[in-house]
Amino acid sequence: MGPETYEVAIIGGGPAGLTAGIYLRRSHIEAVLLERELPGGQPITSPLVENYPGFPEGIAGVELMERMRKQAERFNLEFKTFSPVEGLVQEGSVKHIQFEGGEVKSLSVIVATGRSPRKLGVEGEEEFFGRGVSYCATCDGPLFSGKTVMVVGGGDAAAEEALYLTRFAKKVILVHRRDELRASDYLAERVSNEPTIQTLWNSEVSKIEGDTVVKRVVISNNKTGEQTEVDVSGVFIYVGNIPNTGFLPEQVKRDAGGFLLTNESFETDMPGVFAAGDVRSGNFKQILVAAAEGAIASKSAQRYLEDIGAREAYKGERL
Ligand code: NAP
Repeated sequence: MGPETYEVAIIGGGPAGLTAGIYLRRSHIEAVLLERELPGGQPITSPLVENYPGFPEGIAGVELMERMRKQAERFNLEFKTFSPVEGLVQEGSVKHIQFEGGEVKSLSVIVATGRSPRKLGVEGEEEFFGRGVSYCATCDGPLFSGKTVMVVGGGDAAAEEALYLTRFAKKVILVHRRDELRASDYLAERVSNEPTIQTLWNSEVSKIEGDTVVKRVVISNNKTGEQTEVDVSGVFIYVGNIPNTGFLPEQVKRDAGGFLLTNESFETDMPGVFAAGDVRSGNFKQILVAAAEGAIASKSAQRYLEDIGAREAYKGERL
C-alpha cells in the first residue's frame, strides 16, 4: 500500500505515463500510476512499430509496452487499476483524483490519458461493433482470414492498418473522403504498390449493413453523389482520435480539438497538473515523443514539488 497522499499521480499507462513513472521512481519520488483495465495505451494496437529507435527490425506495440512496464516495475512504480477517472478536484495543495468507488490524493498530477478512436457516426457502426466493425486491426485482423475488409480513413493509421490487414484478408478496400492520402509519403507509396489494396477515393461510408454480422457497406461518392453497395465482412475505422480529457474541470484550457494546452514545462492551467503525450496539444503523435514528453513532465512535476516546498511538508505528513 502506498502513502495516503502521493507526491505524483500519473493518469494513463501508455508510453508517456510509464516513462514519467520510470523517471520519477528513479528519483525516489512517491509516484502512483493509475491505469484502466487494458494497460499499454494506443501502441498496443500497433502490429509493428518501425520507427522507435533501438529496434532495427521493428517491434510489436504490445511487446514494446510490456518492456516499458517491466522497466517501471523494476523501479517499484505502484500501479492502481481504476474505472475511468471521473473528476479532478483541488483542495489546497492536494489534488483529489476521483473515480467510481474511490479517490487517490496527490500533490501533483501528470495527465497521460492519450486519445480514443473517433467514431464515424453512421448507421450500423454501433450496432455491428464487435460483429465486423472494429477500431483495432491488431486485435481483430486475424478473424478476417481470406475475407474482404474495408478500412476507412486516409491518415497514417488507416494506411498502416490497411497494409497490416493484407496479411489476412484476400482484399482490403480503403475508403477515403478525398483524392489523396494524408498519410506519410512512405506509407502512401506502400499502399499504392500493394495489389491487394483497392482505394475508393472521394468516398464516404453512409451505412453499415448486415444480419448478425457485417455483410455490406453503402458508400457514397462525394463528387458524383453516386451510392454503391460494397460486400465486406469487416470494417476497420481509422478516422482520427479524440483526447481523453472528460474528467478535467473546464478551467483547464483545451485547443479546438479538445487537446490540453500547456506551457513550456507541460503544465496546464491547473497548477501542478501536467500533460504529456497524445493528450497534449501540439504533441507530434508518436510513441517516442509521448515517452519523451513523459520524461519532461516528470522533471517539471519534481520542480513543482520543490518550488512549493510541498515535498518537505509532505515528508512530515507521511505515514
Ligand atoms: P489523422 O492523421 O488525423 O487522420 C485521420 C484520417 O481520417 C484523415 O485522413 C481524415 O480525412 C479522415 N477522417 C476524419 N474524420 C473523418 C470522417 N468523419 N469521415 C471520413 N474520414 C474522416 O489520424 P491517424 O491516422 O489516427 O493518426 C493520428 C496521429 O498519429 C497522426 O499524427 C499520425 O501521424 C500519427 N500516427 C503515426 C504513425 C506512424 O508514424 N507510423 C502511425 C499511426 C498514427 P482528411 O485527410 O480528409 O482530413
